[in-house]
Parts: sequence; C-alpha cells; structure tokens
Amino acid sequence: MGPTILIIEDNEQNSYLERYILEKKGCAVVCAPDGLTGLSMAENESPDVILLDIQLPGMDGYEVAKRLRACPACASVPIIAVTSYAMAGDRERILAAGADDYMEKPIDPSSFAERVLAQVPAAKGGLKDA
Ligand code: MN
Repeated sequence: MGPTILIIEDNEQNSYLERYILEKKGCAVVCAPDGLTGLSMAENESPDVILLDIQLPGMDGYEVAKRLRACPACASVPIIAVTSYAMAGDRERILAAGADDYMEKPIDPSSFAERVLAQVPAAKGGLKDA
C-alpha cells in the first residue's frame, strides 16, 4: 500500500484535483474541509504527508501548522503548504510556522505528485532516501 496523504483544503475543486493525481500514483488520500477537522484527521489517520491550504474557514493554515507541530502524534509529519497567497513573506511565514515545503496554486499537475512523494521515505512508497 502506498503512503497516506491528508489534504486540508476548503475548495472542493482543488482537493478533487489533488486527490485524483495522488490516487493515480498509488496514494491513499483523506480530505478535510477545515482546520479543526484536519487536526483531528491528522491524529487519527496517521498520514505520511499533510497538504495544507492557508486560506481556510475559521482557523487559518498558519494556526493549523503551529498546532500540528505542537501535537506529539503529528509533530514530525511533513507539511506542504499549498496556497494562492503570493504576498512577499508568505513563504517564510508558513515555513516558520512549521511547514516543510510550499507550493503556489494553481498546482502544476506534472510535478505535483513528485513534490509530495519527495517528503515520503522510500520504504513507505515515496522518493525520499531513508
Ligand atoms: Mn482555501
């Protein structure tokens, strides 16, 4: 079985596209439409990577990243921020909040899966050397 990816994203078209690409690569994908649901799924579904939208209803992605990093069960799970923000400093801000990588929307379908799997150890079906 491939790695499990948690997508925290409120836009259904975005999560649908991301899920479609990742499932084609053999990933198991679970989706959360908001930060609180995402935090609970991060604890219960043991994802190998978390894709995190920044603009979410209620709690934003910066706060979600901070809470994930403070949660013992999730603290070491790689987080990739996926955001349409293009403001100077956003990348630094989300990396400082605990994200491991940062992608701008619209995602590039030709490199998206590789970018995600780069965060997963080879033993779990990813591209990262152990
Ligand atoms: Mn959003």
